[in-house]
Amino acid sequence: MDKEIQSLIRKETIRQNKGIELIASENYASKDVRHACESILTNKYAEGYPHKRYYGGCEFVDQVEELAIERVKELFGSKFANVQPHSGSQANAEAYRALLPNGGKILSLVLNDGGHLTHGSPVSFSSFMYDFVFYPLNKDGHLDYDGILKVAQIEKPNLILAGYSAYPYAIDFKKLREIADKVGALFMVDMAHIAGLIAGGVHMNPVPYAHVVTSTTHKTLRGPRGGIILTNDEEIAKRINSAVFPFYQGGPLEHIIAAKAICFNEALQPPFKKYVRSVVENTKACRDEFKRLGAIVSDTDNHLFLLNVLDSFGLTGLDAQKKLEAINITTNKNMIPGDKLKPNKTSGLRIGFAAITTRGCDAKDARAIAKLIFDYLSNKIDDKKAKEEVKRIVSSWKLIQDI
Ligand SMILES: *Cc1c(COP(=O)(O)O)cnc(C)c1O
Repeated sequence: MDKEIQSLIRKETIRQNKGIELIASENYASKDVRHACESILTNKYAEGYPHKRYYGGCEFVDQVEELAIERVKELFGSKFANVQPHSGSQANAEAYRALLPNGGKILSLVLNDGGHLTHGSPVSFSSFMYDFVFYPLNKDGHLDYDGILKVAQIEKPNLILAGYSAYPYAIDFKKLREIADKVGALFMVDMAHIAGLIAGGVHMNPVPYAHVVTSTTHKTLRGPRGGIILTNDEEIAKRINSAVFPFYQGGPLEHIIAAKAICFNEALQPPFKKYVRSVVENTKACRDEFKRLGAIVSDTDNHLFLLNVLDSFGLTGLDAQKKLEAINITTNKNMIPGDKLKPNKTSGLRIGFAAITTRGCDAKDARAIAKLIFDYLSNKIDDKKAKEEVKRIVSSWKLIQDI
């Protein structure tokens, strides 16, 4: 055993157990999922696809990968699936490659409005390889479908991209596909954040409307860290497979693909539906309690909302994030619609309930968390009192190693 790493894993286990994890992109994977990740499947090279590998000895990993593909197709109702992408960012690079020529034009939502780095940020590969233009949100932070159509008619993009990292509202994929058809563009959805909500039936499924759907598997879907790409179009599916391997990736991570297969099976079971319904209910309960207490918050239809800490408490997002970290509440600073502060400060926090709902957080806890954060950030209670309250709330939840 490597003492140094073991000790750090132990410390991280304690940190994860004693905190209230409100980072909207995080979750706790089940024991089964984690066991597959540490399995001997990590030893196997399997470049290629099931029954078309570059190496021998792939009889069992072929079956692992086929199971993962069949299950994810059933879960989201797609005709084709690639389960090899190492992450959501890789999946996006691969999907762009499959759909567009170099320099192709993509219409997306800018990072500061809730998009993702891979959706055209200047510090991401995406803006180097493709020509990004952006569509607006309206003043209250909702997608402005008429505005998107107008920009699309002017810009004539090759691809319209939807799916976001910090967008608290439902997305109408049908409307966006209609816009894409009107301007002759392809339509892609990156459902990284809401894949679990879609799997559990509390958000519209993009698969019937999008040419390609990408996702992570580790956010609301509660699987191992990784990515997937789905499509109903056989020609596009072939191009996706070549974009994943050999264009962008080498040997697939079959241990992670096994863990994905387990996660898809978990998400197909009735308890997962109950879980995602609780996630949405808890998010709403916390958001409503903040509102009742007088804080300025976005509304929410999903697993997250935005808290305007600048106008509510006179704090930047960065300062609020640091202050909460000191009492074991993890959040992340986030731009709010029309933010006047820079992305490294921000006026808001992004608050999500996917992770702690897995541990057993209920609506009562969600309201207690709103009250605690409100009282602490408005200096009504001190660090000691706040830490005790965190401890009290967490004490009724499952330990992360037992999930
Ligand atoms: C998280 C996220 C990704 C990237 O996932 P990684 O696995 O971190 O690369 C891509 N798109 C969106 C919308 C995301 O929220």
